[in-house]
Amino acid sequence: MIDIRGVQKSFKNTVVLKGVNLTVEEGETVALIGSSGSGKSTLLRCINLLETPDQGSIAIGDYKFKAHDISRHTKKEVRKRTGMVFQSFGLFENKTALENVTEALIVVQKKKKAEAIEIGRFYLDKVGMLNRASYYPTALSGGQKQRVAIARALALNPQIILFDEPTSALDPELVQEVLQVIKQASDDRMTMLIVTHEMDFAREVSDKVAFMDDGIVLEVAPPEKLFFHPENERTKQFIDRYM
Ligand code: ADP
Ligand code: MG
Repeated sequence: MIDIRGVQKSFKNTVVLKGVNLTVEEGETVALIGSSGSGKSTLLRCINLLETPDQGSIAIGDYKFKAHDISRHTKKEVRKRTGMVFQSFGLFENKTALENVTEALIVVQKKKKAEAIEIGRFYLDKVGMLNRASYYPTALSGGQKQRVAIARALALNPQIILFDEPTSALDPELVQEVLQVIKQASDDRMTMLIVTHEMDFAREVSDKVAFMDDGIVLEVAPPEKLFFHPENERTKQFIDRYM
């Protein structure tokens, strides 16, 4: 479903991605872990072209692009195929929960309003937020906002959803409700790449865990292997610190 080959990215004099290779198969949930500053967010942003990679190629489903050949058309095609959930929710404050979900369905996907509302209500229900459909974000808790953001990503039916530390901004008591919704999407076989520091969650939901270190994906393995029998010394050091 998604295939990242040799992706490199620098900011000024700093090389942040040093040739990342990573594959996420259709229906898979892959957890991306690693120290702060190792390049996880930059990698997600290069996949959906919020940043432009300097080198390498990326395939998202049937759509392939190369770093040196990115146009507005490429960005449009990529955005159609990817959903993104940010740490800070990124909801439109002047729109209700339902309007947040239907906005892109109407504006980008050109769906009729009635159909968009039907889809929007379906996904709000899926994340347990249908009873808050008419609420504005200011009236929602962080966990509720993030569930709306996830409903918004799911509603667009992307080929992959990228999550960047979706629970890091939440009060501890609100983390589980969001993880539960992500787990549901994983059980539904949505294809997902999730940057997370929630190691128990990564272990429970992911098909594979990818450890990122200093600008490369150093080791990829099923969770039981990566967490308990890592092959690389640096992976082992990271795991020992976190678990
Ligand atoms: P992570 O998400 O793993 O914590 P990031 O991808 O956010 O790591 O950052 C990796 C490195 O890239 C850091 O050293 C960060 O300072 C640098 N970086 C990220 N974005 C930018 C930017 N827009 N300009 C300059 N440096 C950046
Ligand atoms: Mg980050």
